[in-house]
Amino acid sequence: MSEPDLSAARALLQRVFGHADFRGLQADVIGAVLAGRDCMAVLPTGGGKSFCYQIPAMLREGVGLVVSPLIALMQDQVASLRAAGVAAARLDSTQDRDARREWLSAAREGKLDLLYVSPEGLFAHGMLDFLEQCQIALIAIDEAHCVSQWGHDFRPDYRALGQLADRFPNTPRMAVTATADLKTQADIRTQLRLEHAPAFIASFDRPNLILSAERKSPRPQERLLELAHARRGKSGIVYAATRDHVEKIATALQGSGIPALAYHAGIDAGLRAERQHRFQEEEDIVMAATIAFGMGVDKPNVRYVIHADAPKSIEAYWQEVGRGGRDGENAEGFCIYSANDLRRAIMFANQSNATDLVKSIQIKKARQLYTFLDGLTCRRAGVRRYFGEEGVEPCGVCDVCTDPPVSIDAAELAAKAISAVMRLDQRFGRGRVIAHLLGKAGDGIDQQYAARSTFGIGADQPEGHWRAVIEHLLFEGVLSEGDGERPTLAIGDEDAVRAIFRKARPVRMREPAKTGRRSKEERSAARGARNAAKAGLAGADAQLFEALRNWRRDTARAADVPPYVVFNDATLTAIVGAKPKDLIALARVPGIGEAKLKRYGAEVLAILLAGF
Ligand code: ADP
Ligand code: ZN
Repeated sequence: MSEPDLSAARALLQRVFGHADFRGLQADVIGAVLAGRDCMAVLPTGGGKSFCYQIPAMLREGVGLVVSPLIALMQDQVASLRAAGVAAARLDSTQDRDARREWLSAAREGKLDLLYVSPEGLFAHGMLDFLEQCQIALIAIDEAHCVSQWGHDFRPDYRALGQLADRFPNTPRMAVTATADLKTQADIRTQLRLEHAPAFIASFDRPNLILSAERKSPRPQERLLELAHARRGKSGIVYAATRDHVEKIATALQGSGIPALAYHAGIDAGLRAERQHRFQEEEDIVMAATIAFGMGVDKPNVRYVIHADAPKSIEAYWQEVGRGGRDGENAEGFCIYSANDLRRAIMFANQSNATDLVKSIQIKKARQLYTFLDGLTCRRAGVRRYFGEEGVEPCGVCDVCTDPPVSIDAAELAAKAISAVMRLDQRFGRGRVIAHLLGKAGDGIDQQYAARSTFGIGADQPEGHWRAVIEHLLFEGVLSEGDGERPTLAIGDEDAVRAIFRKARPVRMREPAKTGRRSKEERSAARGARNAAKAGLAGADAQLFEALRNWRRDTARAADVPPYVVFNDATLTAIVGAKPKDLIALARVPGIGEAKLKRYGAEVLAILLAGF
């Protein structure tokens, strides 16, 4: 890596984007690309992946090609780049022919620094031939995990991107992603023909995320509203598994006075785009969504992400909660999960038309997620270990760290529950198994089973404990549940069952919830919120911040861009902190580059002076 190259890159970072220096692995990645090398970069969401290709694209001769799967993602990046005065464009199916022609000739004439294109667009007729005639600075493949079956978001059209290696042998190619476990990383390398490229794998730590997870309560809707109301005025995302659940959540939030929108693939594309736009623009809005609302969402001040149903895998979880706090300020993640969610995940995997290999990967990933959610270790540390990080310390702020769950030895309870499932011939669902354990016989067929030796062996425990034990065994895969409307409990892992009976396998689980526990969790959430406010602004500073925010809102509205394209919250906070008195001092505030200084400097100073 040659120093002069990097100092040019740093100067550009300062002049155009207004940031003092690179952070994390940005300098290493940029150094490699500027030296003309291929590379793979795995940087967590919010880690500043975009600069890794944007800056080398601007410095190297020719146009930087960015392959990205979603139009929304491209639109936002192009809007932000243009706001910073960078020559950037995108090609997509929504544009008319004249617009396309204009951008393509700009690319050929060397007038563009960055051109964003979807994989379909790239492989559209004649496109690669055309690009071969252009000077290409680099090729960045964003969301590179989509190439892998081991990944959680496989896109078959990504497979074809490997051929870029032959088409552009002398152009540095970069694979960039925010989420790739070890197997996915290996797959990215082979599929994208980056076997010998250096890999830059950042830590997956996100110190500003405050995480917690809890089992679904009997009244999940109420719990959700409680969480949202405690965060009124803040922007959040609520993920749910089905369209129907999304609509219900949006309606419930609206009905309780929280501005909320619904987003899922069943909504007309135009309306979807409009809602995404509103979400980006409005400061206190909550989006209830399926995972169709995902890539391309990079609103920086999302203050919380709630999973009303559990996600599909730890990768998906991390990517989804990762949409909170991208501005570096604290954000909360709540995950609400249940054995039913796991059952549904397994059912969907089994019903999909994926190969058996992919199905078994999906089921394994779902089980890993539940073991993690229901486990006894720090949330953030758990995720980081999953991505292969070593020597990870507990985060100190998640629910497990701040309010460690008490674990119990449940070997004996487990053996009783499993025996009951077996004595009931694996024919009944959870409710009947628990009734049997408690010694409660109904009529008809139940009577017949009341004579079995397991009838009533669990009468010394409350019903809720049995529910918890059975859920735990389901999470661990020791028991399994059928696919039907009224799923029956069956033996899952026979080896595990034998080991439990032989007392050769410990069963440690969370102490089943007692009444009143939830309010304790709420108390600790409230504690977290107070601390966040303490770190924030108060008094005159808070007023100044409000004034700047109002100005930002009006300015953004007039220009029809999201507020953070003008300045993000971190920059506003920095302005309040620095209280610059002139343009020179203002230019020193992180986040203010040349273009923005020129466009907004005078207005910002006017607000500051009025406030003194
Ligand atoms: P992601 O890795 O999720 O794509 P982005 O590239 O969108 O992240 O960057 C996330 C945020 O971090 C952006 O607001 C960006 O301006 C900011 N950022 C990136 N690099 C730096 C840096 N070196 N210094 C300060 N802010 C940065
Ligand atoms: Zn922790």
